[in-house]
Amino acid sequence: MKFGGTSVGSPQRMKSVVELIADGEQNLVVLSAMSGTTNSLLEIADYLYKQNQEGANACITKLEDKYRQHIDQLYTTDEYRNQTWQLLHSIFDYIRSFTKGDFAAREEKIIVAQGEILSTNMMTNYLLEQGYNAVLLPALEFMRTNQDGEPDLKYIQEHASKQLALYPDKQIYITQGFICLDAEGEISNLQRGGSDYTASLLGGALSASEIQIWTDIDGMHNNDPRFVENTTPVSHLHFDEAAELAYFGAKILHPTCIQPAKYANVPVKLLNTMDPTAPGTVISNMVEHRKIKAVAAKDNIVAINITSSRMLLAYGFLRKVFEIFENYKTSIDMICTSEVGVSVSIDDKTNLLPILNELKKLGVVEVDDNMCIICVVGDLDWRNVGFESVAAEALKDVPVRMISYGGSNHNISFLVSAHDKKRALESLSKYLFW
Ligand code: ASP
Ligand code: MG
Repeated sequence: MKFGGTSVGSPQRMKSVVELIADGEQNLVVLSAMSGTTNSLLEIADYLYKQNQEGANACITKLEDKYRQHIDQLYTTDEYRNQTWQLLHSIFDYIRSFTKGDFAAREEKIIVAQGEILSTNMMTNYLLEQGYNAVLLPALEFMRTNQDGEPDLKYIQEHASKQLALYPDKQIYITQGFICLDAEGEISNLQRGGSDYTASLLGGALSASEIQIWTDIDGMHNNDPRFVENTTPVSHLHFDEAAELAYFGAKILHPTCIQPAKYANVPVKLLNTMDPTAPGTVISNMVEHRKIKAVAAKDNIVAINITSSRMLLAYGFLRKVFEIFENYKTSIDMICTSEVGVSVSIDDKTNLLPILNELKKLGVVEVDDNMCIICVVGDLDWRNVGFESVAAEALKDVPVRMISYGGSNHNISFLVSAHDKKRALESLSKYLFW
């Protein structure tokens, strides 16, 4: 069971989490830092990079005050209040110790890791105070990445099992999301939003019966609720459908979190802490045939078109184009080709200028900025008839820059101008779901 920053963001919310994790089953609970904390820790690090000790100290004091208030409200006994306060105070003193001495990436990672250490200690102490049979398992004992910066699955499985085996009789196991050791054994993390990833890696490694990701909405919706009214939760998604949606903008689930669960064949449930009995969304290896599930959009896309008569009947042209993107470590989202040209879309503009300069050696280059990928997800196997035409029909009044279909059995994507995003999403909902 994974709970994000807002779910543990106040004493009241922490208490609601306890009701969910103390359900009589043996649960491994992955917690994020309380909302805002990781950002504050990064701000402290930023001051220290700038050698502004005063700024860093001010931030530390402010954050510490916030935790002091939380502690006062959370615990009912002085014993646990004092004990937790002493522990948290020592963590803040540790953070303060970095205001003296050199500061670099290694120190930053140690500071950023403290958010999850704070939240999990608070929660475990609260559970113990309330008489639950709980224990804190330090994530740094088993979460680790390899030389490539990828999770070391074998290490995680071996060490997480070992830690659990130390406490066979506990009911609730609490651990930190996000944080890990790197290949050298230094403190590191799984990138922003990485707690979902921790939960999925552990669920997979320990062959959990399911992985529950608890947030503030009742599952993944069939369209973006910020732009379209009357969206509804999708009851079931295939792992590949969920991966497309997570990547293309559905904020509820971190995209990296799908793969370990899919690989281990452990279903992922997206559930709502505000409405715990709602069914939410189940993500598994099951395909629901002949169903369109959801629509999502990804912003800030640039489309680049390269045309060249040299491409006609030539081989190797696409390789030369793609090599340029590879050399600038820029990944391509969509591709469409014709006999004399190719269009690609990218979302990382860091190296746009040098990429364009290189591409101009190959042909005539045109760029459209401020575009948006609209992605329709569901059973889009090519042998099914009709679905791609309904999606296209829904966009009949919207200028479409690119269409991509057939790359997977699960999606069809349209590239449109950002101005047309809202009406494109609305029209798709109307044609596909209402
Ligand atoms: N606390 C980390 C972050 O804010 C990890 C997470 O919340 O998943 O990015
Ligand atoms: Mg988060």
